[in-house]
Amino acid sequence: MTARVLIVDDVPANLKLLDAKLTAEYFGVLKAASGPEAIEIATRELPDIILLDVMMPGMDGFEVCRRLKAAPATEHIPIVMVTALDQSKDRVQGLEAGADDFLTKPVNDLALFARVKSLVRLKMVTDELRMREATGQRIGALVGTSTERMLMTEPGRALIIDDRPTSLKRMCEALSIEHTVTVAETPDEMAQLAAIGDYDLLIVSLTLSDYDGLRLCSQLRSLESTRQTPLLAIVEEGDTPRLVRALDMGVNDYLVRPVDRNELVARCRTQLRRKRFQDYLRDKFQQGLELAITDSLTGLYNRRYMESHLAAMVQDGLQNHKPVSILIFDIDFFKSVNDTHGHAAGDTVLKEFAQRISQNVRGVDLACRMGGEEFVVVMPDTDLSYAMMVAERLRQRIGEIPFKVEDTLELNVTVSIGIGVVEAAGDTGEKVLERADAALYRAKRDGRNRVVAEAA
Ligand code: GH3
Ligand code: MG
Ligand code: MG
Repeated sequence: MTARVLIVDDVPANLKLLDAKLTAEYFGVLKAASGPEAIEIATRELPDIILLDVMMPGMDGFEVCRRLKAAPATEHIPIVMVTALDQSKDRVQGLEAGADDFLTKPVNDLALFARVKSLVRLKMVTDELRMREATGQRIGALVGTSTERMLMTEPGRALIIDDRPTSLKRMCEALSIEHTVTVAETPDEMAQLAAIGDYDLLIVSLTLSDYDGLRLCSQLRSLESTRQTPLLAIVEEGDTPRLVRALDMGVNDYLVRPVDRNELVARCRTQLRRKRFQDYLRDKFQQGLELAITDSLTGLYNRRYMESHLAAMVQDGLQNHKPVSILIFDIDFFKSVNDTHGHAAGDTVLKEFAQRISQNVRGVDLACRMGGEEFVVVMPDTDLSYAMMVAERLRQRIGEIPFKVEDTLELNVTVSIGIGVVEAAGDTGEKVLERADAALYRAKRDGRNRVVAEAA
């Protein structure tokens, strides 16, 4: 992962040291030596993350943080406050100023990269979200409250395991302010609950007295249902080897004992935000995909999808010397169904019609609604005689079994079907569709409720 990091410190030696560490890990580095300079560079360059020293002459880090978080152009950039060791008061003040995370001086490499990566990941999803919101607003689809606010009002569900009663109690108290917390008594219980419980956050102590917490983390990372769930580890001060293993395994962030409650709250909030945004984007994406390719009334593919795939299917058939057949269906006298029984009855017929088509074609066949009461099925590896057979079977399934519209209303529906077949080189989907359509026209003209193939 690469990202542009703005580091802010009034001591040149500190800047130099951080610069060297970040550059060695291939981050792009920007530097500012004072508060005002930091604001200017942040506003101009829009970095992905800012590491901000607290103690600076003139404008201190808190003030810089407040200003950046108050400006629409920079409010979304994650800010890590770099505080003197053990200054819990600074952390509270930093949180109040809108900081996203903390690092203590002297900056430990592991902590630095874990935090920077975690926040850059978060920023990537929020940027995506902001972009889509902007697009949505442009086309008038989204108005009012920002998605971010909407997503963060729900409390999160946290699951925690720690066998030190005092520490556990303190963490539960701090987390309960914003979230609902469940405590797992054993590693087995943790794994089971996590697998079925749909949690937003998993917290694992790596210092359980009779169990290897790393093993539990690895299990949580390999289970399908918990692979994506944010995972926080609690480590003993100085236990670097274990921490490195945990981060390698995919643990998202960590806390060092004794756990600072502000730090716990801030880290959990960051992880929760990322998860919420990711879930939201995934759902939206899937919804978007479905909307884009399916017909909402019948669930069949829509015209757009059919047209974009027809060319590929025809091409494939020609290349492999396999025929491709296209059936076009048009319900007979459908207008009179609407006129006599209402539009809702018409819709019910369309849905049932689509179902009968789906049930009578193969998985490789592409069934779609072209619009209105017109449907198309594209059948790869299918010659004319087989296509005739399928079409005839479908014509009968539709004409011979009445459509049940209401408990007391059954309608007889018939369909006319035209067939076109791709065979010769140089043929295109569009041309075959036209020939099938001409055949359909003849089926209508010759009395409806029949199958007609394209003229040989
Ligand atoms: P033909 O046998 O010549 O095909 O006659 P027809 O009445 O089926 O053909 P026409 O094209 O004149 O009418 C199609 C009707 O389909 C008109 C329109 O109101 C109706 N229709 C189109 N889309 C929908 C829909 O989504 N729901 C309902 N209920 N009706 C629809
Ligand atoms: Mg029609
Ligand atoms: Mg019709």
